[in-house]
Amino acid sequence: MPRKTVKTSRVVIDENTKYYVNILLELIGKMYGETARKVIKHIIESNGSAPEETIGRDAGVKSNEARKILQKLSNEALLSCRGRRVGDKVLHFWTINWDQVEGMLINRLKKTREKLELLLKYEEENIIYECPVCGRRYSLDKAIELDFTCPIDGEILIESNREEITRFLRKKIEEIDRELSKLGAD
Ligand SMILES: [Zn+2]
Repeated sequence: MPRKTVKTSRVVIDENTKYYVNILLELIGKMYGETARKVIKHIIESNGSAPEETIGRDAGVKSNEARKILQKLSNEALLSCRGRRVGDKVLHFWTINWDQVEGMLINRLKKTREKLELLLKYEEENIIYECPVCGRRYSLDKAIELDFTCPIDGEILIESNREEITRFLRKKIEEIDRELSKLGAD
């Protein structure tokens, strides 16, 4: 995550933090929509702080939509606003609350990790059958109920090779662990 340097209190975005900015933007897009993603991207590219009066224009979104999003993200404490005199005008500067943003990222990663752990546990503890034609997967109970025949295409079900999927899940969990550790939350 971009860290505020102690001396200048300016957000510094280096190569390493670009990675997190990308994860963050993707997450913001998923949670709050494309307008929110554009607004946050613009604020980050403006060194973490940009005036409300020009955000719409500069981020390429409608001003009223930008204002709505700013309010929403401010309610979530991801952004905060402060008036600052620029020339003879007072502009409303929106700033990213990195601590809050980092907390949100960590929460999301932990939730995803929990889901993957559940999937992994299920795969490890259950016998699963699958159709070699359509790839649909069935629990042992369901396979017995179906007389080991896929109801979609009538193909004989075979026991699923769980090694591949459990390897994939473990790899994903390790990736998340590495991200959490980089965020100092392992
Ligand atoms: Zn099938």
